[in-house]
Amino acid sequence: MSKTLFDKVWDTHVVRKIEGGPDVLFIDRHLIHEVTSPVAFLGLKSRGIKVLYPERTFATADHNTPTINQHLPVADPLSANQLKALESNSNEYGISHWGLGHQKNGIVHVVGPEYGITQPGATIVCGDSHTSTHGAFGAIAFGIGTSEVEMVLSTQCIMQPKPKKMRINVNGKLGVGVTPKDVALFIISQLTTSGATGYFVEYAGDVFENMTMEGRMTVCNLSIEMGARGGMIAPDETTINYVKGREFSPKGEAWDKALAYYKTLKTDADAVFDKELTFDGSTIEPMITYGTNPGMGMGISHEIPNADQVEGGAATYAKSLGYMGFHEGDSMIGKKVDFVFVGSCTNGRIEDFRAFTSIVKGRHKADGVTVWLVPGSHIVEAQIKEEGLLDILTEAGFTLRQPGCSACLAMNDDKIPAGKYAVSTSNRNFEGRQGPGSRTMLASPLVAAAAAVTGVVTDPRTLIESIKELV
Ligand code: SF4
Repeated sequence: MSKTLFDKVWDTHVVRKIEGGPDVLFIDRHLIHEVTSPVAFLGLKSRGIKVLYPERTFATADHNTPTINQHLPVADPLSANQLKALESNSNEYGISHWGLGHQKNGIVHVVGPEYGITQPGATIVCGDSHTSTHGAFGAIAFGIGTSEVEMVLSTQCIMQPKPKKMRINVNGKLGVGVTPKDVALFIISQLTTSGATGYFVEYAGDVFENMTMEGRMTVCNLSIEMGARGGMIAPDETTINYVKGREFSPKGEAWDKALAYYKTLKTDADAVFDKELTFDGSTIEPMITYGTNPGMGMGISHEIPNADQVEGGAATYAKSLGYMGFHEGDSMIGKKVDFVFVGSCTNGRIEDFRAFTSIVKGRHKADGVTVWLVPGSHIVEAQIKEEGLLDILTEAGFTLRQPGCSACLAMNDDKIPAGKYAVSTSNRNFEGRQGPGSRTMLASPLVAAAAAVTGVVTDPRTLIESIKELV
């Protein structure tokens, strides 16, 4: 029987089928961090249960970590306790722990792929919604809750109903200044934040085939923002070249065996999806959000739609625009920007800093704008320095912070103050996501760079002198 990529990976991992209930799935890799794991470990302790496969479990600290002066004690008592609990639990149960100050420390969804923990055809879970990121490698990867973290620690399995399958095709040539982030925000704007609820999405078409692994990770990361359980892209030469030789990637004969498996990971020609959508990539322009969910996005040259042009109630729409201080019919171009944030598991990889630097090179940070440039890991931080990007950034008036989730969410010191506007390369623009009362405009690193040097929302295409400079 013909199968989709999703079916192939799922079926390979089913340990038991429950009649009329969920499947019991084996989990290859379990990524944990300081926020959703402490309660799970308490549960294990209270029942005297061990971690079944500590070697399949990896711990990194990211959500609560400061992004400056990481050598100093963490000031916030709750954060300090959670970080300490992650370390002591990892040590007690024999789990690799990449805590603050460790050379492998970074955002869980950035370091997993960097060290080859993320592999094609694997099942991967983590107590964070954006675990969907790892689907870029042709893995089934999804976020889980605290009780499920405990279940996976103790059994290396999880009970899951099999989601429906959706394929989203994007073909055509992307325009100048259009990045993977724009493709993802465009898709979400078309589907809305609930358009893929109940589905697992496969992305297909030449736009994704031509993307780097970093770009594919950005797209799969945002799958969750249209309600999908996760997103995935069939592994190809780009994927295999990325995975090969990394620390936790298979080696020798194990690599040959893995490679043979990776090559089976594609949707059969006549496999059927529950839903299929196709978009023309050449129509996508740099995107920006104007409201308080990631589906409220539009091409940067457009005007904010009227309530009757979008789904959802008029009152909810008015509340959202009211929170942002925007109005129907407004242009986003020229809106004041107080903060710019480049980072997170969505856009905290080297390609994102190359893109940002390509715009700010030879220009200067605008007065009155605070810019937080936060690499997703120490590897990204080192690349920024080795490639000479830091010199260009410094010359343009920017500084680089240390790795962490930072202003993706208001759980550490990097909070956007109430009422302030932030152009952010992260993934959520909910009310208060970046700090109580903060107002977030999601966008690509190129749009972020254009805002950082002008102080207002600016179409980055007006600042691009050379297409070759772009990633
Ligand atoms: S950067 Fe944001 S979405 Fe990603 S792992 Fe951290 S908190 Fe979660």
